[in-house]
Amino acid sequence: MTDPQITQLQPLPEDWQRALAVVAHPDDLEYGCSAAIAAWTDAGREVAYVLATRGEAGIDSLDPATCGPLREREQRAGAAVVGVTTVEFLGHRDGVIEYGTALRRDIAAAIRRHRPELVLTLNHRDTWGDASWNTPDHVAVGRATLDAAADAGNRWIFPELTDQGLEPFGGVRWVAVAGSSRPTHAVDARPGLERAVRSLLEHRSYLEALTDQDPETYARAFLTTRTTATAERFGGIPAVAFEVFTR
Ligand SMILES: [Zn+2]
Repeated sequence: MTDPQITQLQPLPEDWQRALAVVAHPDDLEYGCSAAIAAWTDAGREVAYVLATRGEAGIDSLDPATCGPLREREQRAGAAVVGVTTVEFLGHRDGVIEYGTALRRDIAAAIRRHRPELVLTLNHRDTWGDASWNTPDHVAVGRATLDAAADAGNRWIFPELTDQGLEPFGGVRWVAVAGSSRPTHAVDARPGLERAVRSLLEHRSYLEALTDQDPETYARAFLTTRTTATAERFGGIPAVAFEVFTR
């Protein structure tokens, strides 16, 4: 039942050409965002991914030295399904990413390299909106990404980046946070939903360790439930929700 008190989400702005998604782990984008990303690349927009870690601490039965390269391969495959071929890894250590100037500098450098108008990241808040605690990696990367959108445009915050040939870029217009408990905007998930399911399925090693369910049943149920839940705030259209910070 639709709650009349629920605020309707606005369509995410579409007058942009380049987006950069910055998240902590392989699979962070495939748990929802990739449906929106598929529609954007269909429309000829450029989207690049930057991951702070290789997700090497994500599978209990695999030691990090084995897990990291495996998850990197799965991430590149998941990105390719939705038309993304640029996937970079910053090499921070999974599970213990530190929020601070080193992380902000790495993300500011990525923003200067890619010069996106739209930056995407994952929930930077302490919880997922209920009694479900967020992970410190997501909080650190989400916050640092929001900060780095400004840092990238300031010549004097990380002058060493200019010395490396990365000129300031103040052109980020929006930072859109997925998985936020305070969404403001949304993107129609329908055109990209099948590819979103397949992109999540590319994280097969992770999914097989995570659940006893058939991976495809699990991926489809998760993404359908999430996008359908957003529909009641988006004119009945299954959608990916974002909290948008305008710059
Ligand atoms: Zn994650």
